[in-house]
Amino acid sequence: MIQLIRGFKDILPGEVELWQHIEKTARGLFENFGFREIRPPILEYTELFARSIGQDTDIVEKEMYTFSDRKEELITLRPEATASVVRSYIQHKLYAKDPVRKFYTIGPMFRRERPQKGRYRQFYQINAEVFGSESPLVDAHLIFLLVTLFSRLSVPDTEAHINSLGCPICRPKFKEALVDYLSSATGTLCSDCLRRRERNPLRVLDCKVPSCREVMAGAPSLADFLCPECSSHFSMVKESLERLQIPFVIDKRLVRGLDYYTRTTFEIQTTFLGAQNAVAGGGRYDGLVKALGGPDIPAAGFAIGIDRLAEISGLNKNDFEANPDIFVAAMGEESTKKAFEWSCALGREGIRTEMDFSGKSLKGLMKRADKLGAARVLIVGEKEMQDGSVILRNMATKEQTSIPMARVVQAIQELFKKD
Ligand code: ATP
Ligand code: MG
Repeated sequence: MIQLIRGFKDILPGEVELWQHIEKTARGLFENFGFREIRPPILEYTELFARSIGQDTDIVEKEMYTFSDRKEELITLRPEATASVVRSYIQHKLYAKDPVRKFYTIGPMFRRERPQKGRYRQFYQINAEVFGSESPLVDAHLIFLLVTLFSRLSVPDTEAHINSLGCPICRPKFKEALVDYLSSATGTLCSDCLRRRERNPLRVLDCKVPSCREVMAGAPSLADFLCPECSSHFSMVKESLERLQIPFVIDKRLVRGLDYYTRTTFEIQTTFLGAQNAVAGGGRYDGLVKALGGPDIPAAGFAIGIDRLAEISGLNKNDFEANPDIFVAAMGEESTKKAFEWSCALGREGIRTEMDFSGKSLKGLMKRADKLGAARVLIVGEKEMQDGSVILRNMATKEQTSIPMARVVQAIQELFKKD
């Protein structure tokens, strides 16, 4: 028996309804605020990710599914969506008509991480990106969207964590102070962090290894190094969140260790997920469009992990069970032919219809209708056909009514309109 690849999974019926509901809720919310859907491809040139996510990140160093294509070009299954959305924005000059553009995208991402609870090698994200505005209100708005979406999806115990990374003017001074601090704190850092310390010291801040966390507890705080512009930008983000009555905590270890990322970073965490506690993350990346060859246009965005969101949503999977409105139970060859016509017509009219084609007895058919949880059963037997009418049984009240054959579809439609 051929099995799934490790770290991959099937999203089965029974579970997929919740996913559909999550996606539908997100689409509805984004569209309320003028976000348009964009669907970039899943494969891109490796260089796109190397340049945007950064050579010295875990993702690019060891987590990407990279292949060489026939022409020896290196291509990669996308580990995240922002890079592709930015590429698309630049490639199609989507900024030309109006640089302020808002996009969302939903789809699978691939990272070759160690599989565990809440961590898969193919996982799904909902992404939103806003281009063309430097305003701190955009940052607050993105956090507002996340909080609103999670509340609509009954996600319990979420907490917004925010931080500011400063800008290319103030961050280098912080980096220096951090490197100084790290050089006096050898020994207890994990091997990844010893490497990061040299190549990308900001990343040490968000290492999840407990001993590294301990070391970093006394690290300098970026907040003390922000330039006046970054500081007032961050204040405005905080003030806006307060106005919207969105609680937040300032989390100085929240970084994206890359030069393109600037100012606000944020994460939505929950106590429900254990170690994999982030359901969504995002921030401002004012330098990325330019770094990928586009004009100097600021941007900010976020990514939500759908797998984790589905795990913690307080909505019950049973809330989405779609039982048939009607089960068509036909006995005998002629009745079955006619009933099949009706069943197709009912479904076409938007009534959830089921029919059994296996030639069961009435008893067998009723059992099946019961199992499927049908609200009503249309009984089409030879005898009824001869009489020119069929029977409609309400499964809850056990009430039966007779419907003339000439107007079966019409009568049932009218009935459902009333309901
Ligand atoms: P983590 O710290 O959990 O590794 P991350 O910082 O790598 O997360 P991002 O790149 O910010 O994650 O992606 C945003 C969201 O995507 C995360 O908050 C998480 O919900 C989800 N996510 C990331 N990696 C995985 C994965 N391997 N499996 C499932 N969900 C994931
Ligand atoms: Mg990760």
